[in-house]
Amino acid sequence: MLAIDLKHPLLPRTPRQFGLLIDGKWRSAQEEKVVERTSPAHDVRVSVYPSGEVADAEAAIVSARRAFDIGPWPKLKAAERSRVLLRAADLIEQRAEELALLDTLENGKPLTQARGEIAGAADLWRYAACLARDLHGDAYTNLGPAMLGVVVREPMGVIAIITPWNFPFLIISQKLPFALAAGCTAVVKPSELTSGSTLVLGEILLEAGLPPGAANIVTGSGRQVGAAMVRHPAVDMISFTGSTAVGKMTVATAAETLKRVSMELGGKNPQLVFADADLEAAVDAVVFGIYFNAGECCNSGSRLLVQREIAGTFLDEVVARSRAVPVGDPLDERTKVGAIISADHLGKIEGYVTDAAAAGAEVRLGGQRLAAERGRFMAPTVVAGVSPEMAIAREEVFGPVLAVLTFDTVEEAVTLANGTGYGLSAGVWSRDYDTCQTAAARIRAGTVWLNTFMEGFAELPFGGFGESGIGRELGRHAALDYTEIKTLQMHRGPRSDWWLPRAQGAQSPLGSQATLS
Ligand code: NDP
Repeated sequence: MLAIDLKHPLLPRTPRQFGLLIDGKWRSAQEEKVVERTSPAHDVRVSVYPSGEVADAEAAIVSARRAFDIGPWPKLKAAERSRVLLRAADLIEQRAEELALLDTLENGKPLTQARGEIAGAADLWRYAACLARDLHGDAYTNLGPAMLGVVVREPMGVIAIITPWNFPFLIISQKLPFALAAGCTAVVKPSELTSGSTLVLGEILLEAGLPPGAANIVTGSGRQVGAAMVRHPAVDMISFTGSTAVGKMTVATAAETLKRVSMELGGKNPQLVFADADLEAAVDAVVFGIYFNAGECCNSGSRLLVQREIAGTFLDEVVARSRAVPVGDPLDERTKVGAIISADHLGKIEGYVTDAAAAGAEVRLGGQRLAAERGRFMAPTVVAGVSPEMAIAREEVFGPVLAVLTFDTVEEAVTLANGTGYGLSAGVWSRDYDTCQTAAARIRAGTVWLNTFMEGFAELPFGGFGESGIGRELGRHAALDYTEIKTLQMHRGPRSDWWLPRAQGAQSPLGSQATLS
């Protein structure tokens, strides 16, 4: 039985109350309804947010539109915008413990891990501040002596940002600072389950000097608030991270008003382990890759593809190490895997394992929830003997469940790797350069890690092929993605190319004298 410490000094005695941020002011929802969030690890009420509705989303959009059309933010010099983003990064660091604790209490992730996510998020705000200073267009002087072509980048407009519950503060920080760096204004809707840290970000942005209306935050359900943002004609672009199913609906709705979309969706990411790999490093990465964030991770290495000649011993070691993973109270600093986000989701995870077993797979470890004094926890689970057509091999389980398949050749490994509709990321483990390069070239995924797994850098673009998304976040184009291109064609010098040719020396009542070319 997992022990959960209800006397932990970091557990709040009363839930924290939040408001909506609209036009620089904190408000309750127009209907005055609220949502209460209970910690999935402790079953204790931790946060109360307004349950916004369509009218609240619309008020936020009007505010963001006004802030874009007549407010100061898009017109500021890049240096001034950059200063606000840098101040925000400093304030994020000053409030890092508070932000990490909120994400831990609302999501159930280990506090030690949440601290790393907040530090990574502060770094993203600083990177965006650098990109703001480098936003520029192009000049074309190769169009003949009479023409200068200038391509300028203008801020895209009002951005609707919709985020999921698995990395609440990190994911908003992959989007909002880059939109702001470009001079856009935004309406943000965090997941209803984990809105706290995004609302604290609202306080941080006001303190950092962001003008009213440049970033608005509306909590509430996706069906009400999210859908209203996607439909609204005054929104220019949707930046969405979440499930592929909701992503597809969002793209379809956004098409009605031809909004630009940026979609970061699900993944069913394989780790390919070849017999000649550094197997010590590979086994550690396989275990980390599936259990990090309880497997509730778009990048989760949820499929192990292992070469048949080492499959037996490698799998024994994966099972042994999985058994040793510390699951438990996320406030305990020794914990590596915390709670599962909701009872429904836990049931869905167990269902995938039950169905796989019924279809002939072998559950080598775990397979069901763990007995705990409080909250809901899933046992680290390894399912072997999986075949490619099983749901557990194709669909995103989004839990600590590893599906194991075997292969003989590079060809077969690549075919298995590409055998789902997703294409977010993959890991390849081999000491052979050709094996690594051949696999990396042929795997259809936005990121391929070679002899490492799930590292992330602000400098490197992130996003997916196929049903894993549209567009890329991060990297040096991250702020450019929130801009529109405008072309200026500028004539230089006296005119010589008349559409209706005129006689040499003819006087014009407009005052000019025709010159012949
Ligand atoms: P969902 O798709 O259910 O929700 C994502 C967000 O969309 C939430 O804020 C949700 O609101 C909102 N939403 C729900 N319905 C609508 C709608 N009709 N219109 C507009 N917005 C809506 O995903 P989860 O929150 O369950 O997150 C898990 C998923 O996110 C996984 O599939 C995972 O792979 C993916 N993900 C992808 C990442 C990537 O970068 N590729 C990174 C992290 C996660 P609410 O839930 O509050 O009602």
